[in-house]
Amino acid sequence: MKQTVLVFRAIPEDLLGRLKAKHDVLVADPRRPEQQQAFYDALPLAHGMIGSSVKLGPAELAAAKNLKVISSISVGVDNYDLAYLREQEIQLCHTPGVLTETTADTVFTLIMSSCRRVVELSNLVRDGNWTRNIGEDRFGWDVNRKTLAILGFGRIGQAVARRAALGFGMKVIYVNDTEVEVPELAGRARRAALDEALASADIVCVTLPLTPETHGLMGPREFGLMKTGSFFVNGARGPIVQEDALLAALDAGHLQGAGLDVFAREPLPLDSPLRTHPRVTPLPHIGSATHETRRAMAEMATDSLLAVLDGQRPAGWFDLARA
Ligand code: NAP
Repeated sequence: MKQTVLVFRAIPEDLLGRLKAKHDVLVADPRRPEQQQAFYDALPLAHGMIGSSVKLGPAELAAAKNLKVISSISVGVDNYDLAYLREQEIQLCHTPGVLTETTADTVFTLIMSSCRRVVELSNLVRDGNWTRNIGEDRFGWDVNRKTLAILGFGRIGQAVARRAALGFGMKVIYVNDTEVEVPELAGRARRAALDEALASADIVCVTLPLTPETHGLMGPREFGLMKTGSFFVNGARGPIVQEDALLAALDAGHLQGAGLDVFAREPLPLDSPLRTHPRVTPLPHIGSATHETRRAMAEMATDSLLAVLDGQRPAGWFDLARA
């Protein structure tokens, strides 16, 4: 039966065509001021929604009386009020797996560029300041054979660990709710408690989901436990980090550098000290942002939406009962 689908973030034309072939489709992105009214007008009509990067809780969804499914073009589900969706019997779908390797590449890019000062030294060349061989004051720090702590050892955390242990000869320590067996990492990765992992690592990276338990997890105490001269990388979600505490640790010279793909507020406000800090490498939330991966995510989210509206359970089904 034909139903109504609200698309709240642009998707490729052919995928929009697949939705239109089966359903009535309305397109409105509430982040664009000129489309906000159309978005709220469409909510009472929508049986399915597809998109990402918009907070959707009771306040936003109050009018969505016919909604059966939200298909998120993301693996993280922190934009959605899970208790409300469960209560209202609205199914949530997401895109696990298809972005794992690309996001792990981004995390590793941040590790490499922070430790080897890639952006800073590239800017030195661009600015015309490469006038003689660089001296010790501009040397970087090795990544190979160092100890990496990975907070959150799920799909992305394990993919980062494979790069680190198998490609760079690094020792991997991971922090995770449960022990995880990864055959190819046997003898190369061990689980530890958070405090021990922070105190032992040369580089700490975050690949955790944002949940009430992980919100603000990295604060003054945790940064204080990290080794002097170590590096911190966040490839997960901004609010996992207390940004004032990170800045204080950098300014005190306790941390050598930080690579950040995500921030408490995005886009990063112009007055945020993290934007221009000399020892921070900031990226504009590009974890999964390649042509191939964003396409795969949109495709998976489209498949999921169509399947749920058709009464099926797709691969992208998020288990609200377990959340
Ligand atoms: P995943 O496979 O679910 O991995 C998350 C891991 O964290 C799981 O192993 C989970 O353990 C563990 N965990 C959860 N809460 C924990 C806690 N309080 N303490 C210790 N361990 C905990 O998810 P994923 O696909 O790797 O994605 C991880 C996150 O990366 C996403 O939620 C998303 O926010 C972020 N992400 C960011 C970007 C970006 O653009 N920067 C792109 C993609 C994803 P259990 O399974 O045992 O609970």
